Amino acid sequence: MSDNNENNSLSPNKKPKPNSYQGWIIAGLIAAILGITIFNRSASIRETTQKRFETMFKDRDVSFVSVVNDKVVEVTLTPDALRKSEYSKLFTDPNSAQSQSPGPHYQFKVNSGSDFKKEVEQLRTENKIEEKLDIRIEPRASFVEWFGSWGILVVMVVLMYFLLGRMAGGAGPGGQIFNIGKSRAALFDAENKVKITFNDVAGLDEAKEEIKEIVDYLKTPTKFTKLGAKIPKGALLVGPPGTGKTLLAKAVAGEAGVPFFSLSGSDFVEMFVGVGAARVRDLFKQAKEKAPCIIFIDEIDAVGRSRGRGAMPGSNDERENTLNSLLVEMDGFATDSGIIILAATNRPDVLDPALMRPGRFDRQVSIDKPDIIGREAIFKVHLKPVKIALDVDPKELAAQTPGFAGAEIANVCNEAALIAARRDREEVCMKDFQDAMDRVIGGMEKKNKIISPDEKEIVAYHEAGHAVAGWFLEFADPLVKVTIVPRGVAALGYAQYLPREQYLYRAEQLIDEMCMTLGGRAAEDIIYGKVSTGALSDLERITKLAYSMVTVYGMNDRIGNVSFYDSKQSEYSFNKPYSESTAQAIDEEVRKIIDHAYERTKALLTEKRPELEIISKELLKRELLYQSDLETLIGKRPFERRTAYQEFMDAKVEKGTTPPEVVEEATAQS
Ligand code: ADP
Ligand code: ZN
Repeated sequence: MSDNNENNSLSPNKKPKPNSYQGWIIAGLIAAILGITIFNRSASIRETTQKRFETMFKDRDVSFVSVVNDKVVEVTLTPDALRKSEYSKLFTDPNSAQSQSPGPHYQFKVNSGSDFKKEVEQLRTENKIEEKLDIRIEPRASFVEWFGSWGILVVMVVLMYFLLGRMAGGAGPGGQIFNIGKSRAALFDAENKVKITFNDVAGLDEAKEEIKEIVDYLKTPTKFTKLGAKIPKGALLVGPPGTGKTLLAKAVAGEAGVPFFSLSGSDFVEMFVGVGAARVRDLFKQAKEKAPCIIFIDEIDAVGRSRGRGAMPGSNDERENTLNSLLVEMDGFATDSGIIILAATNRPDVLDPALMRPGRFDRQVSIDKPDIIGREAIFKVHLKPVKIALDVDPKELAAQTPGFAGAEIANVCNEAALIAARRDREEVCMKDFQDAMDRVIGGMEKKNKIISPDEKEIVAYHEAGHAVAGWFLEFADPLVKVTIVPRGVAALGYAQYLPREQYLYRAEQLIDEMCMTLGGRAAEDIIYGKVSTGALSDLERITKLAYSMVTVYGMNDRIGNVSFYDSKQSEYSFNKPYSESTAQAIDEEVRKIIDHAYERTKALLTEKRPELEIISKELLKRELLYQSDLETLIGKRPFERRTAYQEFMDAKVEKGTTPPEVVEEATAQS
């Protein structure tokens, strides 16, 4: 979740670019080796023949010869000979008159070294030369041979070096294979400061309040320590993705003006044993150098899962080691060292209890999805850079985006601007925002998805079934919008509802919800006498709901007030905590609930068949109906229920702005 605009605009401390000169050094070395091998013979060596050599020998000009590899004879002349004019002009360096080439001076090919030796002997006796010729046997590796034995090895080593560098995530030679135990934290410090302040974080007032203390401490630690207070070492930010946990942590760093290390829990995880623990140690070492500072670990559940829980034996040793070293490091630094650890997770339930012990993450700050007021504030923040038309009102946008997290709101604002740009507008208007919201909820409109008229009719009846059932069920969430425009991956159409702002549900509310969800299939059943596959996700939902009513919420008389929900349950539990006969009873009761609900829905829709027909015809014609359209078509909903949201929208209507058309919660219905 930390991939966001803020991050991009800040561009954290990049790891130093892998030194490109390393590559040059390697290339240079190879070139040098090749060069030496090829050119190590004296450059001034001259070709000659065996005949001419014999003449030189007879003239006693030869100092010695070397037989190289049994093939080539190299001749080195005596200093006296070199003074003779015939040689001196060949082998004297013209720049410095004294220095003569040390030799060898000539070379020629022979068939074999031993033959050559014999021939020289013969020549010596023939010409009565007393001195023996100094014949040295010199095995010398040629480049080809050298390459055959050593060169391949060298090339392979060089290749490995490059490849491993790549593998370890580094670009270029060297890479990071040697830095694998280094922490991967991005550092924001004096040079690239965190510029985010609490003003950039909209809403989240309670969370901000709790976390401000940390800022105070980082700014004036003595204020606390002189009273003997121990400062918390860390705080755990708990909340669903995209709700601004990273943003808040950054704001703390920005407000306190201290360096900020940011990394994700998964950065510790590597396939090599011991790497995670090494990275933890390295991270804390770096942090101590920069103290006072903040370490932010996103998705800490990647390392912080309960130890020894579930999982196959041995499989998570590495993670346990990492977690252990994290715990050790957190214990290891003193409270006044000025390091504060913030961590974020959306699964506090799986975290190891040891992490939550006092002295570690002893403070938990919960961050929820924003309510309507929070959403308005977030919209205001993200509308700032957007050029908006006069008809765009953050209040209204907030009202139309229930269930959206901050990240989605940021996304809507950006999408709207993109859509407006595509439409060549001067400023972004409400229509663009509406389309952006549809897109964020349901995915792209599938303009060219071909649906046959028959299919379209089925979809229309299905969606109308949801809409009409919900309209006449007291506890069903009021519908706001129903459409048969295909969007996104699977949905052929969907209906949006305005969910209650409530946290406790009574059984009859759940039953009504179930009936509304079954409305689609029931409508198909009534109209066509057959059903289609279009109700898959509806059925999945009601099955889950029915099972939870029976086994989790204790809402069934026969099963009684028991709950088989285990909040401490391990991920891999194989045994059910109830007997076979209870299992059977559960299945029967679930079936009963669903059958009842289906019968009830069918009865309701049979009674309201005229309304069903009206809505589906209208849907086929217009493809999209709002709550207000339904009111004109089939009359007001018979149940009066006002939410804070409706009151807010009514107030707007009185003021004479847009009517309350689009509303709540994306419940994609197939
Ligand atoms: P997470 O909780 O997953 O760490 P982030 O902090 O990364 O979420 O939030 C993602 C983006 O959503 C932020 O960069 C910001 O643009 C936007 N956002 C989320 N919450 C808020 C908020 N309360 N105020 C302003 N922007 C927010
Ligand atoms: Zn459906």
